[in-house]
Amino acid sequence: MKPPAFKFFAPNTVEEALTLLETHGSEAKLLAGGQSLIPTMNFRLAAPEVLIDLNRVNDLDFIRQDDGNLHIGAMTRQRAVERSDVVSKLQPLLFETMPYIAHPQIRNRGTIGGSLVHADPAAELPAIALALKARFKIVNKTGERWVDANDFYTGMFGTAVEEHELLTEVMFPKSTESSGTAFKEIARRHGDYAMAGVAAVVGVDAAGQCDAARVVFLSVSDAPLLMENACKALLGTNLSAAEVDAAADIAANQDADPVGDIHASAEYRRHLVKVLFSDVVQVAAERARA
Ligand SMILES: Cc1cc2nc3c(=O)[nH]c(=O)nc-3n(C[C@H](O)[C@H](O)[C@H](O)COP(=O)(O)OP(=O)(O)OC[C@H]3O[C@@H](n4cnc5c(N)ncnc54)[C@H](O)[C@@H]3O)c2cc1C
Repeated sequence: MKPPAFKFFAPNTVEEALTLLETHGSEAKLLAGGQSLIPTMNFRLAAPEVLIDLNRVNDLDFIRQDDGNLHIGAMTRQRAVERSDVVSKLQPLLFETMPYIAHPQIRNRGTIGGSLVHADPAAELPAIALALKARFKIVNKTGERWVDANDFYTGMFGTAVEEHELLTEVMFPKSTESSGTAFKEIARRHGDYAMAGVAAVVGVDAAGQCDAARVVFLSVSDAPLLMENACKALLGTNLSAAEVDAAADIAANQDADPVGDIHASAEYRRHLVKVLFSDVVQVAAERARA
């Protein structure tokens, strides 16, 4: 199907985009890579009367570092992040995860900001942002604010970005040297949205004990899910296989409350949580020790 008719604007600056957002209010939608929005419009699940295309706003396309913090502009293509040496060096978890997102053709157009704001519960990048304690820069006509990943995701396809606002960049804070990271997901075919996936950041102190843990799942809740109780259970342990498995039990039976759909039953997703949790935490712990 083709989308319903819409008016089209292509601003050159953030300021112009914000003015258009203010003028058209709830009738308008921002267009980034179009890889989620355009299919939704073609299926007539969304019918914005106005599209504000961000593709000419060059200021939103960058990958920068300062003092080990990584800054990525909202309009940076996913493919650029996947190929960036800076990202590989500063945030190996993000770098490792990029190829799991859809297919190369989609990553050529799809943007970091589009994926983070679209907030699909099965998307990889929101889970990575939460695991790495990313911060989001949101602007509107009166100013800007930074929002922590903990507060950014508000539920199914919901974020802190309001109707008259746009995301301009995401910042990944410098990671600590004693931490290791890992990502894994289970999908029917490579490139499909995952039935479940997980990102882990695990810190190990000089005595070999776990001193930090952030394990975040995608596709098992209506938003990326930090396994709080399971992470607490890891702290102070030696991260032995038995200790990690015990925490995985907590993740599957206390932290997660997955629902079933056409892709996987709730029971199967709970099983995936347990298996994936153990797998990634072990790998992240090995990398932290190394
Ligand atoms: C076949 C297929 C398979 C896919 N598989 C996966 C997958 O496995 N994993 C995955 O994560 N994704 C997957 N995707 C989605 C893909 O990653 C999209 O690129 C991404 O979700 C949206 O990014 P976009 O730049 O295309 O945004 P768009 O589609 O242009 O926009 C998405 C939404 O974000 C809003 N938006 C965009 N930019 C901003 C901004 N700067 N500020 C405020 N709001 C903004 C738009 O208004 C819109 O509501 C798949 C897509 C397709 C078509």
